[in-house]
Amino acid sequence: MEVSIDLQAENKEIVSRYRKLVKSVRPLMKDNDHKQVRLAFNTALEAHKEMRRKSGEPYIFHPIAVAQICVDEIGLGPTAVIAALLHDVVEDTDMELNDIEKLFGKKVAKIIDGLTKISGVFLQGTSQQAENFRKTLLTLSEDVRVILIKIADRLHNMRTLESMPRNTQLKISSETIFLYAPLAHRLGLYSIKTELEDLYLKYTEPEIYREIASKIQQTKASRNKFIKEFVEPIDDSLNNAGFDYTIKGRPKSIHSIWNKMKKQKVSFEEIYDLFAIRIILETPPDEEKSACWQVYSMVTDFYKPNPDRLRDWVSTPKSNGYESLHVTVMSKTGQWVEVQIRTLRMDEIAEKGFAAHWKYKDSNKEAVGNRETGIEAWISKVREMLENQDGSAIEFVNDFRNNLFSEEVYLFTPKGDLRILPAGATALDFAFEIHTKVGQNCLGAKVNNKLVPISHKLNNGDQIEILTSSKQKPSLDWLRFVVTSKAISKIKDSLRDQKKVVATEGKEIVERTLRLLRIQLSDDVMGELRAYFDCKSSLDFFFMVGQGSIDPGEIRKFREEKKKRDTMPAPVIHDAKSFEKEIRKVRGVEATDQLLIGENMDKIDYALAQCCNPIPGDDVFGFVTVNEGIKIHRTTCPNAVELMSNYGYRIIKVKWTSQKELAFLAGIRITGTDRIGLVQDLTRIISNDLRVNMRSISIDTDDTIFEGKIMLFVNSTEHLEQLIRKLSKVDGVVRVDRFDS
Ligand code: MN
Repeated sequence: MEVSIDLQAENKEIVSRYRKLVKSVRPLMKDNDHKQVRLAFNTALEAHKEMRRKSGEPYIFHPIAVAQICVDEIGLGPTAVIAALLHDVVEDTDMELNDIEKLFGKKVAKIIDGLTKISGVFLQGTSQQAENFRKTLLTLSEDVRVILIKIADRLHNMRTLESMPRNTQLKISSETIFLYAPLAHRLGLYSIKTELEDLYLKYTEPEIYREIASKIQQTKASRNKFIKEFVEPIDDSLNNAGFDYTIKGRPKSIHSIWNKMKKQKVSFEEIYDLFAIRIILETPPDEEKSACWQVYSMVTDFYKPNPDRLRDWVSTPKSNGYESLHVTVMSKTGQWVEVQIRTLRMDEIAEKGFAAHWKYKDSNKEAVGNRETGIEAWISKVREMLENQDGSAIEFVNDFRNNLFSEEVYLFTPKGDLRILPAGATALDFAFEIHTKVGQNCLGAKVNNKLVPISHKLNNGDQIEILTSSKQKPSLDWLRFVVTSKAISKIKDSLRDQKKVVATEGKEIVERTLRLLRIQLSDDVMGELRAYFDCKSSLDFFFMVGQGSIDPGEIRKFREEKKKRDTMPAPVIHDAKSFEKEIRKVRGVEATDQLLIGENMDKIDYALAQCCNPIPGDDVFGFVTVNEGIKIHRTTCPNAVELMSNYGYRIIKVKWTSQKELAFLAGIRITGTDRIGLVQDLTRIISNDLRVNMRSISIDTDDTIFEGKIMLFVNSTEHLEQLIRKLSKVDGVVRVDRFDS
């Protein structure tokens, strides 16, 4: 098949699109900008000249469109336009970064560098991509334009996703909903966020998308009629009061309607707040606040407000810069209607994000000041998280996402400075927010002049004074009281430091004790000590000595036992066979009676050892105790070696009968990444799918890591293995293993 392209027409189209771009950025250009923009266009045109998009269009359409979005929809200026035009040049063509720097200078080169570095995709769940995302944010803290251009790039790719193969559509869409939409939201790019979400739905759930879109269309006439009647009285009094204003009635986004349908399990027809009424006022900057409240009073003259649904983001803007007064009122037809009251300036900032505020920089200093503090605070918080980050990149992304989504509380220092923390933050979080040292020495706090413990959860508007003591030190407990990443990582840091100090003291004690016993602290001895005292690492061992949970006297005992052991070869047990060999050694060749367990539980006085919880199928032995009859241990029990070397004569051979109906207690440990619903999923599989009875379950979550210990009743090792296999497949679970309590 031959495709003929009218190159002449195409070139004309390229030029016309470029002209449109120049026209919209012109008001923001000065001196040399015009020349540089044209140079950027020509450079990109030349570099991409052989390339076409999947749709068949010339590639240059894409960078032009991205630049146009930067100007029209985000409110950026010439530097962003230049960078947007060149954004794919280094990645996709022969041009290199220093060529860019020579032609356009350091600033543009740096932005392009950031854009090229983060061009790798970052899908949920893989560390490589999470690492890329971290880089994105590192660059973001240098020049926020990188992320804004990246969002514009993504928006254009989403708008033109139609021509991509299905799997690419799904991949790009899920990245978009996972990262770009929340990022746009956090940066206050409300319209872009909404469009990204709608496009996500369009490609992932095309039928649902079409259905909701057509229903919005069908109900348009009746909705408009309702809005017209609702607005009428307000309209009159706004006019009488001499306001300059516009009123819009806008339906909610398709994506948010779908979310509501899912969440509330209702049909489209049952959603009452399909739209919000927006009153946009044109007022001088110093009258904004009073004008909004004046309008609020007019609206509530006609309609009764719901006191629980009043939101005042005019007095205290959100940290992404959003300002608006929201009130929900009862209409004459008995329907709740949300009314949003804001000024034109607030509206533009709400739609376009913080880039739009530059426009208002000089006209309203104070309002801008507040907004800037919010954005600066956010960027510096991101930087802080990046600097503190010592866990895996995945954890970081989860952490970041948590911070993105969580609601915030507004708090005040005794001097009245505003601090914004995620909801659920405690007095201790606040202390770390003030200063690391204040956090570490935090003893308690006074919240609104009342004394509270460090774990006290803070509420909006609280004024907090932190009480400190130089004697106070962070403890492991503290991790349960904090939610901010800063506090978590600072507490972990000092716990590590504290442990090291104690371990150093412990090491000195150990060395001194061993010197007296004329033992050298060699690697072998270290290994024996660790095994004897059951410590995971030498640091743990020294730490336990240092804090006194291992007494130096016990080290002397260790020496005596070591002497004994050195003269007698230690039993080596891997399985039932080597176990029998050992027993024979200890008790002579004669085969001992074999105890059958499993069927005559009540006749013989025996019990299953709690240190290793044997179950049928395990290789086991019996140990005759002084008071508690016969205890059954697994041959691999951590205590087996000691029992056998010291009390070999009390060991008896046992074997399971093949009885299946009995249930035995076993412990499994599940580790993974924490997510909502994980525990339900696990317990569902255990009790419903496999019909296993649980005795106890304990869950420990640390930051984003999940550890669950479950004691349950199984019939055999086979049964247990089957259960472990099933649980390993649960989303979020990293490891499942059996443990001995
Ligand atoms: Mn691109």
